[in-house]
Formats: sequence, C-alpha cells, structure tokens
Amino acid sequence: MTTDVRDQFSRPLQDLRISIMDRCNFRCTYCMPKEIFGDDYVFLPEEELLSFDEITRAAEQFAALGVKKIRLTGGEPLLRKDVPELIASLREIEGIEDIALTTNAVMLPKQAKPLYEAGLERVNVSLDALHIDVFQEMSGRKTSPNAVLRGIDAAVEAGLGVKVNMVVRKGVNDEEVIPMARYCKEKGLNLRFIEFMDVGQTNGWDFSQVVSKKELLERVSQIAPLEALERNYFGEVASRYRYRDSDVEVGFISSVTETFCGSCTRARLSADGKLFTCLFSEEGSDLRSIIRDGATDGQIRDWIQGVWGKRDDRYSELRTEESARNRRKIEMSYIGG
Ligand code: SAM
Ligand code: SF4
Ligand code: SF4
Repeated sequence: MTTDVRDQFSRPLQDLRISIMDRCNFRCTYCMPKEIFGDDYVFLPEEELLSFDEITRAAEQFAALGVKKIRLTGGEPLLRKDVPELIASLREIEGIEDIALTTNAVMLPKQAKPLYEAGLERVNVSLDALHIDVFQEMSGRKTSPNAVLRGIDAAVEAGLGVKVNMVVRKGVNDEEVIPMARYCKEKGLNLRFIEFMDVGQTNGWDFSQVVSKKELLERVSQIAPLEALERNYFGEVASRYRYRDSDVEVGFISSVTETFCGSCTRARLSADGKLFTCLFSEEGSDLRSIIRDGATDGQIRDWIQGVWGKRDDRYSELRTEESARNRRKIEMSYIGG
C-alpha cells in the first residue's frame, strides 16, 4: 500500500496511551480469555517493564512533540505499585494538560483519593453488565459487579471525572445495554458503548458478535430521545449524544462499523516500552532500548518522529473477516486499549 502524504501530516501526534502493567485481576472474555491467560501464562518480568523514571522521560519527549493528553492503562494499571507517584511526575511535564486512567475500578476504593491528590483528573471505568451472572461471564471472574460500582462511587467522591465503558458482545451481554444505560443516566454517569473489536488473536472475534453503533443508538433511544453533540476536539473517538430530558451524555465508539482512522492521533506505549502507532499493529518499535542505550532527549525525539512520520495505519478502514482472522495482532491487555 502506498503512503498517503496528506495522511501523514493531517494526523498530528496528540495523545499518548501508556500501558504500565500487562497483568490483570480480571479475565474478560473479549480481552484476556481465561482459557489462554490461565494460571501458567507468562507475563513480563519486572525488569522488562519501563520504570517510572523511564516512563516520565519518554512522556517528556512526547510532550515536546505536541502530545497534550496522557492516559495510563494496562492490563490493570492499578496493579502497579505507587501509581500516584507516577501521576505526580507526569503532572510536572510542561505541555501535558490532561491525565486520565482506564481501570476495572476494583482498586479504586483504596486508590481514588491518592490518585486525585497526585493530579489525576479522570478515570474511565470498564463495566460490561450489572447482572451478576452476565458480569461474571464477561469478566471471567467470580467478582460481584458491586466491586466495580463501589470503585465508581469512590472515584466520584474523590473528585475524579468518571466515564463508564461497556464493550458489547452479541448474545453475551447485549441484554444489559438498556439496564446499564438506565443506571448510568440515573447516576449522572457518562456511558460509552464500545463495539467489540478484533484486537489480538485470542478472543474469538467475528463480525456476527458485533452490535453496531446504529443498533445500540436505536436501543438506547428507547429510554429517552437523544440528540447528537458536536465533537469536542479533532481525534475524539466517541460520537457523543445527550438525552433530551437531562444533561447526561452517552457515547458510542464504533471502531468496527464507522471507522475513524482518518482522525487517529494516538500513539501507544506498551509496558515494556514498545511504541505502537496502531492498535492493530503486528509489532512495535523498541523505545526502551533507545532509552536504556543512553540516547539524549533530542535523539529520543528524533526517533519518535521517525516512527510517527512513517505511519500509514488504517487497519479499521481496511478490515475484512480474513484480515481479522489472519493478521498477527498484539493483545489488547498488552497494548492497553
Ligand atoms: N483493565 C483496564 C480496563 O479494563 O479498563 C484497562 C485496560 S483495558 C485493555 C482498556 C479498554 O479496552 C477497556 O475499556 C476494555 O473494555 C477495552 N477492550 C478490551 N478488549 C476489547 C475488545 N476486544 N474490543 C473492544 N474493547 C476492548
Ligand atoms: Fe483486564 Fe481490562 Fe482486559 Fe478486562 S479489559 S481483562 S479488566 S485489561
Ligand atoms: Fe487508529 Fe489503527 Fe484504530 Fe485506525 S485502526 S483508528 S489507525 S488505532
């Protein structure tokens, strides 16, 4: 495929997602199915993970290149010790305007306050069902959804902005769409539905399990009429709506049925320091070696620019059943969503 020059220059590097932990305490069917990620699964040894100093150094260089937003993710990022210390260091970086974190929320009752005090502004909490059986099937664990709900309450109480993410898998949790939408509307929480994606090799994805944005929108409109909202900024991934009878928003991330590669401004750094320019990349570029080999700040920036400048990713626009099945893609729990 030829590189579209317009494409390279019209997708500035704006956001950075950093995975800080490849392990997780859940085994969501769509992300880390327990048949593959069992007790004997080998995760990264600690020395392979970027240290907080290395993450901060990398983030400084991304900020100097124009990144304004950082999101910490995983695996489960809150399984890493002392995350507030990392947040406090990232907060100091000139140019970083927004720091967020994506989590399954189980550890928020203990951690929400210190995270907020360190400078975290927002959390996105994954919650795929309220019904206990469906929740346990989706999360692959015998945990109660109340553990997540308690985490959400703790985040709100601590002062963090909260959005709820729900991945919808047809025939597994789509009956929960309306209950989840009602619950979030009543609680004043912004809910975002995410189309089930073919990330990685292990989640058994096919098109028939995707509930499209169109269908989700129709279902949620049964609760109350919705009106579309303008995008907040270039590169925003969710299409946003508001219930006409309240101020509560609901969003749809339609990565499969209405793709948005043309405005994809996001770089991803894995827990072991590989830089990915697309969620569906087959491999990443090794930033950790550049840092550990003693590169100067300027050399690191040149290297990042070199990787980003060569980018011609548009996987979702080109997706077919065959590419979804045959392409060797990295796992969501590794790249961090
Ligand atoms: N453990 C944290 C959590 O679940 O929020 C952070 C990491 S998780 C990989 C980041 C996001 O990716 C979550 O919102 C999760 O729902 C989403 N995700 C994982 N696998 C997905 C898939 N196959 N399709 C769509 N979204 C997925
Ligand atoms: Fe863990 Fe998040 Fe993946 Fe679920 S989606 S298995 S909580 S990393
Ligand atoms: Fe961005 Fe790749 Fe997703 Fe397209 S498929 S929106 S390029 S991450």
